[in-house]
Amino acid sequence: MTLYAVFTFLTISTFVVMLLIDFLAWVNRGVQDIKTLHEIPCSRCRYFTGEYHLKCPVNPHAALTEAAINCLDFVGEY
Ligand code: SF4
Repeated sequence: MTLYAVFTFLTISTFVVMLLIDFLAWVNRGVQDIKTLHEIPCSRCRYFTGEYHLKCPVNPHAALTEAAINCLDFVGEY
């Protein structure tokens, strides 16, 4: 009976630790994704139109995507 209890405890503990590690990895990925999204400069750019159909006339395919990070045509609003 004691061996069975130890085995059950180790199994459940391992499962809980694995869940905790997976949850922390999930949170870390989410934080990294949010940091990446905050690097997109379009909302602060002079060329950003805010229109759904043409967000940026200079780089329409890159606007509001990760491709716009470090955009060479970025001009800050003044
Ligand atoms: S010029 Fe570049 S940074 Fe500015 S809105 Fe267009 S894609 Fe975004």
